[in-house]
Amino acid sequence: MNEQTKAGAVLLPCPFCGKEATLCAERSRDNNGMYPFGTSYVECSDRDCGAQLGGFNSRDDAIGAWNTRPTPQPPPEQAGSVPEGFVLVPKVATNEMALAALKISLGRHVQLNGVDIWAAMLSAAPAPKETP
Ligand SMILES: [Zn+2]
Repeated sequence: MNEQTKAGAVLLPCPFCGKEATLCAERSRDNNGMYPFGTSYVECSDRDCGAQLGGFNSRDDAIGAWNTRPTPQPPPEQAGSVPEGFVLVPKVATNEMALAALKISLGRHVQLNGVDIWAAMLSAAPAPKETP
Protein backbone atom coordinates (compact mmCIF):
# COMPACT_ATOMS: atom_id res chain seq x y z
CA MET A 1 0.00 0.00 0.00
CA ASN A 2 1.32 3.39 -0.94
CA GLU A 3 2.05 5.90 1.73
CA GLN A 4 1.66 9.46 0.61
CA THR A 5 2.80 12.37 2.67
CA LYS A 6 1.84 15.87 1.82
CA ALA A 7 4.85 17.97 2.60
CA GLY A 8 2.87 21.19 2.59
CA ALA A 9 5.06 24.25 2.67
CA VAL A 10 8.28 22.23 2.49
CA LEU A 11 7.63 20.99 -1.05
CA LEU A 12 7.79 23.61 -3.80
CA PRO A 13 5.12 23.59 -6.50
CA CYS A 14 5.72 21.73 -9.75
CA PRO A 15 8.35 23.60 -11.78
CA PHE A 16 6.53 22.74 -15.00
CA CYS A 17 2.89 23.52 -14.29
CA GLY A 18 3.01 25.23 -10.89
CA LYS A 19 0.52 22.86 -9.29
CA GLU A 20 0.93 21.21 -5.92
CA ALA A 21 3.45 18.39 -5.60
CA THR A 22 3.10 15.29 -3.47
CA LEU A 23 5.77 13.30 -1.68
CA CYS A 24 5.31 9.56 -2.11
CA ALA A 25 6.96 6.47 -0.70
CA GLU A 26 6.17 2.96 -1.86
CA ARG A 27 7.07 1.27 1.42
CA SER A 28 6.99 2.05 5.10
CA ARG A 29 9.93 3.55 6.89
CA ASP A 30 12.56 1.23 8.29
CA ASN A 31 13.80 1.16 11.90
CA ASN A 32 15.84 4.30 11.33
CA GLY A 33 12.83 6.20 10.09
CA MET A 34 14.12 6.08 6.53
CA TYR A 35 12.31 4.79 3.51
CA PRO A 36 14.00 1.82 1.84
CA PHE A 37 16.53 2.74 -0.84
CA GLY A 38 15.17 4.34 -3.91
CA THR A 39 11.52 4.34 -3.01
CA SER A 40 10.87 7.96 -2.18
CA TYR A 41 9.69 10.18 -4.98
CA VAL A 42 7.82 13.39 -5.60
CA GLU A 43 5.17 13.74 -8.20
CA CYS A 44 3.02 16.52 -9.57
CA SER A 45 -0.59 16.40 -8.41
CA ASP A 46 -1.70 17.06 -11.98
CA ARG A 47 -1.83 13.70 -13.77
CA ASP A 48 -1.81 15.47 -17.13
CA CYS A 49 1.50 17.11 -16.22
CA GLY A 50 3.04 13.85 -15.02
CA ALA A 51 6.20 15.41 -13.60
CA GLN A 52 7.91 12.95 -11.27
CA LEU A 53 11.30 12.75 -9.59
CA GLY A 54 12.16 9.52 -7.87
CA GLY A 55 14.65 6.98 -6.64
CA PHE A 56 15.69 8.60 -3.39
CA ASN A 57 16.73 7.04 -0.09
CA SER A 58 14.75 9.35 2.07
CA ARG A 59 11.92 11.77 1.87
CA ASP A 60 14.39 14.56 2.66
CA ASP A 61 16.49 13.61 -0.37
CA ALA A 62 13.39 13.49 -2.55
CA ILE A 63 12.17 16.86 -1.26
CA GLY A 64 15.65 18.37 -1.62
CA ALA A 65 15.94 17.19 -5.21
CA TRP A 66 12.41 18.29 -6.11
CA ASN A 67 12.97 21.70 -4.55
CA THR A 68 16.25 22.23 -6.37
CA ARG A 69 15.85 24.71 -9.17
CA PRO A 70 18.49 25.78 -11.66
CA THR A 71 20.27 28.95 -10.62
CA PRO A 72 18.89 31.77 -12.73
CA GLN A 73 21.46 32.91 -15.25
CA PRO A 74 22.10 36.60 -15.75
CA PRO A 75 20.38 37.92 -18.87
CA PRO A 76 22.51 37.90 -22.01
CA GLU A 77 24.50 41.04 -22.63
CA GLN A 78 22.19 43.88 -23.41
CA ALA A 79 22.46 45.07 -26.97
CA GLY A 80 24.94 47.90 -27.05
CA SER A 81 26.69 47.01 -23.81
CA VAL A 82 30.42 46.42 -23.83
CA PRO A 83 31.77 43.18 -22.33
CA GLU A 84 34.55 43.19 -19.75
CA GLY A 85 37.93 43.86 -21.35
CA PHE A 86 36.51 45.71 -24.34
CA VAL A 87 36.06 49.39 -25.11
CA LEU A 88 33.82 51.17 -27.53
CA VAL A 89 35.77 52.96 -30.27
CA PRO A 90 34.75 54.67 -33.51
CA LYS A 91 34.60 52.52 -36.66
CA VAL A 92 36.98 54.94 -38.36
CA ALA A 93 39.96 56.25 -36.45
CA THR A 94 39.63 59.93 -35.64
CA ASN A 95 42.35 62.43 -36.49
CA GLU A 96 43.35 62.42 -32.83
CA MET A 97 43.74 58.65 -32.85
CA ALA A 98 45.79 58.71 -36.05
CA LEU A 99 47.95 61.49 -34.64
CA ALA A 100 48.53 59.49 -31.46
CA ALA A 101 49.71 56.57 -33.58
CA LEU A 102 52.07 58.85 -35.49
CA LYS A 103 53.40 60.55 -32.36
CA ILE A 104 54.29 57.30 -30.63
CA SER A 105 56.04 56.09 -33.79
CA LEU A 106 58.07 59.24 -34.49
CA GLY A 107 61.63 59.49 -33.30
CA ARG A 108 61.82 55.85 -32.27
CA HIS A 109 64.87 53.86 -33.18
CA VAL A 110 63.14 50.64 -32.26
CA GLN A 111 60.20 49.61 -34.36
CA LEU A 112 56.97 49.67 -32.38
CA ASN A 113 54.62 46.78 -32.48
CA GLY A 114 50.92 47.05 -33.17
CA VAL A 115 50.02 46.64 -29.51
CA ASP A 116 51.82 49.85 -28.55
CA ILE A 117 50.34 51.75 -31.48
CA TRP A 118 46.85 50.43 -30.66
CA ALA A 119 47.23 51.46 -27.02
CA ALA A 120 48.16 54.98 -28.09
CA MET A 121 45.19 55.14 -30.46
CA LEU A 122 42.84 53.87 -27.76
CA SER A 123 44.05 56.49 -25.33
CA ALA A 124 43.19 59.16 -27.91
CA ALA A 125 39.81 57.65 -28.83
CA PRO A 126 36.79 59.79 -28.01
CA ALA A 127 34.21 58.55 -25.51
CA PRO A 128 31.01 57.48 -27.22
CA LYS A 129 28.20 59.99 -27.04
CA GLU A 130 25.25 59.00 -24.89
CA THR A 131 22.32 57.87 -27.00
CA PRO A 132 19.05 59.56 -26.12
ZN1 LIG B 1 3.16 19.65 -12.91
